[in-house]
Amino acid sequence: MFIYADNAATTKLRRAARDAMLPYLDELYGNPSSLHRMGQKAGAALFDAREKMAAALGCKPSELTFTSGGSESDNQALLSAAKLGEKQGKRHIVSTAVEHHAVLRALRRLEAEGFDVTLLPVEPETGLVTPEQVADAIRADTALVSVMYANNEIGTIEPVREIGEVCREKGVLFHTDAVQAVGHLPIDLAAEQIDLLSLSAHKFGGPKGTGALYARKGVALTSLIEGGAQERGKRAGTENVAGVVGMAAALEEAAAALDADAARLIPLRDKLIAGLRDIPRGMLNGDETRRLPGNVSFCFEGVDGESLLLLLDGKGVCASSRSACTAGSLDPSHVLLAIGRSHAEALGSLRLSLGADTTEEEVGCLIEAVTDAVARLRGK
Ligand SMILES: *Cc1c(COP(=O)(O)O)cnc(C)c1O
Repeated sequence: MFIYADNAATTKLRRAARDAMLPYLDELYGNPSSLHRMGQKAGAALFDAREKMAAALGCKPSELTFTSGGSESDNQALLSAAKLGEKQGKRHIVSTAVEHHAVLRALRRLEAEGFDVTLLPVEPETGLVTPEQVADAIRADTALVSVMYANNEIGTIEPVREIGEVCREKGVLFHTDAVQAVGHLPIDLAAEQIDLLSLSAHKFGGPKGTGALYARKGVALTSLIEGGAQERGKRAGTENVAGVVGMAAALEEAAAALDADAARLIPLRDKLIAGLRDIPRGMLNGDETRRLPGNVSFCFEGVDGESLLLLLDGKGVCASSRSACTAGSLDPSHVLLAIGRSHAEALGSLRLSLGADTTEEEVGCLIEAVTDAVARLRGK
């Protein structure tokens, strides 16, 4: 048996992405900044990729900056908004307790530089943040609100549209870490009040090490990397041409199949949730319905999550306990603590994230494997 149920950590490269990338790994190796024909071909590939991505996201190509992935995009978004705020004497940032570490650690750095950060608590169990909480937290000196689109651990989809409206009304910049959402949920930037959005290719069937930062026209980015004039001076360094081409191909395919994928995955997800609920002393993490189509997250009392993972791995199941970024650390997940799990409960967590290849038969096997493994760890 081999079942990959860790699609929130990373996804398999889509065939279409791989095929689109190959020429740029082989014969079309020019530097996009070079003036000769090889360079021009690479430059044209970047141009096309940006157009394709903009079409899929509902924005202008000039509003997209290519980066090395979600973490870099998050860091650049926060730093840029902080710099813009500083110019107006605004040094307050509102975010949430359940953000990815790429946001939380970048905020910690800004705090060290004198920014005041308010981390909003979330609703117990669901992990939801309300637009009212955001409205109440905004002050005259607030430079930025950053709330993730969908949570990578518990799958909860935050009310980003409503939060964006609050921010727009109050004249505050709004950033969303949409790394888990892009390619999985319908996002139309033309219709949403989002100023900055982070995305990462490898979460929707593109290659690792490639991402993008959307910045609405008029929102000036600060470069994290000084050097050449690539990406309009907002991100120095020779572009990852093959990566960007693969990302655009993956997004185009993911966006086209989005509704069909969700319609297939949601019943599988709910079947898995229903099956795991039969395990005694288990708790579903996150909201039942405002939930990513592929995400299943549980805590099992009296079970060590890492031991559970290893047992499952032995059976051929790839799952995860904490987010990949904190795996191996002994601390429980900050997200699970934030939704009200105790320290001990949070250490007994299991995330199964389904993907394009997951079948109904696999869901049956997952239920059986997890039920067995939990019973075994409880010594029954
Ligand atoms: C994976 C992830 C990131 C980091 O993206 P990388 O491309 O791996 O740097 C950031 N935020 C969320 C919500 C993620 O799931």
